[in-house]
Amino acid sequence: MSFRALVTEKAEDGAITSSVQQVDEARLPDGNVTVDVQWAGLNYKDGLCLTGAGGLVRTYPHVAGIDFAGIVRESVDERYAPGQAVVLTGWRVGEVQWGGYAQCARVSADWLVPLPEGLTTRQAMVVGTAGLTAMLAIDRLEATGLRPDAGEVLVTGAAGGVGSIATSLLGRLGYQVAALSGRPELSGALRLLGASSVIDRNAFLGGADKPLESARWAAAIDSVGGKVLGKLLRQINYGGAAASIGNAGGIELETNVLPFILRGVTLIGIDSVMQPYATRVAAWQRLAELFDFAGYDELVEEIGLEGLPAAAQRILAGEIKGRVLVKVG
Ligand code: NDP
Repeated sequence: MSFRALVTEKAEDGAITSSVQQVDEARLPDGNVTVDVQWAGLNYKDGLCLTGAGGLVRTYPHVAGIDFAGIVRESVDERYAPGQAVVLTGWRVGEVQWGGYAQCARVSADWLVPLPEGLTTRQAMVVGTAGLTAMLAIDRLEATGLRPDAGEVLVTGAAGGVGSIATSLLGRLGYQVAALSGRPELSGALRLLGASSVIDRNAFLGGADKPLESARWAAAIDSVGGKVLGKLLRQINYGGAAASIGNAGGIELETNVLPFILRGVTLIGIDSVMQPYATRVAAWQRLAELFDFAGYDELVEEIGLEGLPAAAQRILAGEIKGRVLVKVG
């Protein structure tokens, strides 16, 4: 049996290229569950893996794709049976392990989550790793005591995958969302998603930086890092919290202790990759119940495996609006 896969290869001169190839099943890695992949997502990390940036992929040829949803074909693990719908995110699948950009994947049962009732495999990848991570961030912020009446929540990188889904989820939960974006032309779409205000990234970063600035935000969900995270920490309300998810704008963090010692601000790190099973199951369930798929439709772009190399360049350039969905099966 063979199947279609986007195979990423490294030439002797170091050039990384990807092409759609027919791959024999014998080349699949070890694992106890074989999945017919129907849909995969495109995340920032996939952009890194498909271009070789960041050195995440160590062994070539490689099949990228850090998240996918599909139907179990075979399982030697009693937790899964043929015909069952499953979703996979994290565990370095698509980086160290072969991932979802192939019609067939073989993985460890420990990495899978059964699809929640009522969620299709397509819907699972509309939200994907981005949505799961946004949900985890909201769960953690609420655990600090955040409630809708606390004030505005700032979401950065708002037009990207994590940011747009966080904006939508917070809106559904009744929060006032300030969406920070470098693309003011997308203000209308962000408001439709649930943002009550849209903030231009350049304007936000402009002006003098003070050790502590006027308190504006009950909480923040940040997928940008760098200067943006440094700035917003100085603007969090007394007792508020910021969830740090990503580094689309840089890995450095310049801050000072005043937000922490004078305002009691909490900085929460969010990692979706190694989350325990029970946490992932609960987050997927809450996503399935909460997310407004119809309202998000305009921000979904559908491509095939062939479209991935170009889309990878676009996500690294910050040009993707919402989520790119990859039709695999
Ligand atoms: P996207 O590319 O879809 O979104 C990132 C957004 O960040 C862009 O749309 C843009 O938003 C903004 N942005 C991009 N470049 C810059 C820049 N140079 N300076 C400031 N803002 C910028 O990526 P994802 O949503 O998939 O991922 C976002 C980040 O979160 C990535 O760093 C990713 O690795 C990380 N991540 C982490 C996870 C975890 O487990 N911790 C899980 C998933 C993602 P706009 O145009 O609105 O300004």
